[in-house]
Amino acid sequence: MKDSAFSRRAAILGTAVFPMIRIARGQSRPKPVVISSANRLNGGVNCCAKAMDIIKSGGDTLDAVIAGVNIVELDPRDNSVGYGGLPNEEGVVELDASCMHGPTRRAGAVGAIQGIKTPSKVAKRVMEDTDHLMLVGAGALKFAKAEGFTEEDLLTDESRLQWLIWKRSLRDRNGHSNWGPGIDAPPEQQKSGSLDLRELKRLYPQASDALLAEAIQNAAHPPHGTINCISLNEKGEMSAVTTTSGMAWKIPGCVGDSPIVGGGLWLDQDIGGAGSTGRGEENIRACGAHTIVENMRHGMAPKEAALDALKRVARNFNNDEKRLAQVDIQFYVLRKDGEFAAASLWGPGPRFALCTGDQGSHEEQCVYLYTRRA
Ligand code: ASP
Repeated sequence: MKDSAFSRRAAILGTAVFPMIRIARGQSRPKPVVISSANRLNGGVNCCAKAMDIIKSGGDTLDAVIAGVNIVELDPRDNSVGYGGLPNEEGVVELDASCMHGPTRRAGAVGAIQGIKTPSKVAKRVMEDTDHLMLVGAGALKFAKAEGFTEEDLLTDESRLQWLIWKRSLRDRNGHSNWGPGIDAPPEQQKSGSLDLRELKRLYPQASDALLAEAIQNAAHPPHGTINCISLNEKGEMSAVTTTSGMAWKIPGCVGDSPIVGGGLWLDQDIGGAGSTGRGEENIRACGAHTIVENMRHGMAPKEAALDALKRVARNFNNDEKRLAQVDIQFYVLRKDGEFAAASLWGPGPRFALCTGDQGSHEEQCVYLYTRRA
């Protein structure tokens, strides 16, 4: 069939058939669903459970997802979100967050905000209390303080130690690091500028082996991490939030996809919502969350819509799997009828959290585009 013939037919079907589908779906009330990224230490599962409790007791869908992600933002053990997040290259924690409220179709965001443990709540205040959509940096902090938030030091002992170890790993061409012991140190200590577990144990005797091993790994491969959460209630109302400390050791002022409405999250409750975790730069280049919702608007199922967005990410690398091996990115999708999907560029492995009305909050496997070879 020629393209032109196809599009004429699609246009006719579009006006005639899709409204009927919409009406048919509208007749049965959707079951409540909450989906989120998995996060460490059961963060996603706890987030979805909390959001579902609020939805079941009649709370607003945005209040629900924000209360859910607050658990992770306030948990210092999740070093990719909120308090305890790994800092920028100057050792300062900078956070990003965005939210969208389906019923009012409004959105709010903050970028590179320092000193506030729960940037998702500040994003909601931007949405509710200002005529703006996004505040960044010093202005965002000023606004948060004016709104009654307390400014605090977000760096924990663990994240400070990881930052120091990363600094130690920075070497010049001659293999010298100004954060090592220096050339006048005894020969034994001179080589300690490299990240050797035994040497780090000597330097930081109070730190656990697990923390030091993680610090070595994170110094070599700066980690990402974020939580995205999307909800649907029985009235068909939806909301979404994404919150993160962004890439570890980033340049101060760097903002990833999480606070970018359309990138790190997008929601139109006539269709559904989507959000992302992972390398934000690649998501922004594919306008991922918006792309996924538009894919669903044009008939794709959530899984197909998410995989298509991942294919766009891959296309930006000419589908070169070698280069793409360095990219870690996931999408989470919830359609207005409760159908959901989570997809990762690479698998198997990545998981997501889910809570449906009749099933407890739990983790499931993401579908994936490429198979990672061991
Ligand atoms: N997407 C986040 C960002 O780019 C980080 C992540 O999820 O890993 O800031």
